[in-house]
Amino acid sequence: MSYRIALIAHDRKKDDLIEFAQAHEETLLEADLLATGTTGKRLMEATDLSIDRKESGPLGGDLQIGAEVADGICDAIIFLRDPLRAQPHEPDISALLRICDVHDVPLATNVASANHVLDGLYPD
Ligand code: PGA
Repeated sequence: MSYRIALIAHDRKKDDLIEFAQAHEETLLEADLLATGTTGKRLMEATDLSIDRKESGPLGGDLQIGAEVADGICDAIIFLRDPLRAQPHEPDISALLRICDVHDVPLATNVASANHVLDGLYPD
């Protein structure tokens, strides 16, 4: 079964997400991936993954991903947030986190939990 997984990283976390995606590239190739605009662009430049790119986060990308969660078509979110800096689109970020909780969709906000989410979806 192919899972639809969203990948998002704030600017100072994008290198970490790229490293994560490269380390798990074989597994992620099995998934149906989507991402916010810049994150998706960076990931596609650094890997062979094909990614459905939404708007950049500050332009509504987080909300587009949240809409997929509300529609029940997104199976997991890996969202490496920058915990040390305020973001202009904080309300959109809160909305995405909230809608994941409303619909009980797995949401990883750091690399350690991202590893567990991926291991849970793809046990071998
Ligand atoms: P970006 O958006 O991938 O377009 O940088 C991420 C975000 O800031 O939520």
